Formats: sequence, structure tokens, C-alpha cells
Amino acid sequence: MAEPRVPGDDPGTLELPCGETLHAHDLDMGMREIDCACGDRHAIVVDVHPISRFVPEAIADVLRETIETDDEFPEFSMPHVMGVVMEEFPDEVAVADVAEDGHVGYALVWVTDFDSRRLHEIVVELLVELMEHAASHGDDATASQFEQQMMNFDVEAFVEQYREERDFESEVDTPV
Ligand SMILES: [Zn+2]
Repeated sequence: MAEPRVPGDDPGTLELPCGETLHAHDLDMGMREIDCACGDRHAIVVDVHPISRFVPEAIADVLRETIETDDEFPEFSMPHVMGVVMEEFPDEVAVADVAEDGHVGYALVWVTDFDSRRLHEIVVELLVELMEHAASHGDDATASQFEQQMMNFDVEAFVEQYREERDFESEVDTPV
């Protein structure tokens, strides 16, 4: 995932897909997006953001219940969400591991080439796929019921409405 570290390299440095460079110290956990020097806006995500940044708590609950994690994180959380995004878009996500850095209140930070709204749509699409996959391992009735529901699911409309309902300017991201 990360580039091999050369001596003196700062783990807080993010080499963005657009060619610009950021440092974790330039960011804080209340930020959702930055205006980059390249002229684009890029989404910012840190590991302590709740999944409810993207989907309602009820869906986050389903994800935590149905998806088994096999890493150091005890339950499905933002690092898994961004792991799925990185798998899908390996060249469009920069990540920094700042766990050793006492200056920031988070351990991992991701900056994507796309803006916060596009990231939101991508995350919702990928989470729906994940849940579909999980549902298909349940009984047939559950799986087909889920598929029925998801056939009519409009990701763009969902994201539009979800972002309207929430105060994205707020420093504190509270679940709805
Ligand atoms: Zn940029």
C-alpha cells in the first residue's frame, strides 16, 4: 500500500494524485475537503470519522453486524471503508499513517483525487455492493429481498438528500 519509506521521509506527507503535496499538519479532523493548489477540490477522510458521514447509523449498524474484519480494527469502521475505496481506485487516493505523530488527533488520513461529494457517491455504491455480497451469503429470502430494495436505490438522490440533511460545515460530525 504505502511506498517503501526512505530515510528522512516524513510519514505525514501526502503525495496527491494531482501532483501536489500536503502534510497531515495542514489538515484537521473537522475538514471534509480542501481547495487544492491544482484548482480542484479533494475529499479528506480521517480514521476517526464515523461511517455515518456517508450512510445513516442504521446502515452502519448492519455493516458492523454483517462484515467480519480480519485486521487490528475490532469492527467495520472508516479504515475498512477507505480500504474498499483504495482497492477500487488505487491511483486516486493518497494515505498517510500518522499514528506516531502526537500533533494530530487521528492515525490515518486519506485524500482523494475526487471531491467530497463524488467520494460520498463512490462510498455509498461500494457499501451497497458489500451489503449485497453479505446478503447473498444469508438465506435466499433475505438476499432476494435485499436485491429488490436495492434495484430501486438511487445513489445520487440518496447522497443529495443525505448531504442536505446534515450540517457538513460543523466541526463535530454527529450521527443522524
Ligand atoms: Zn490537487
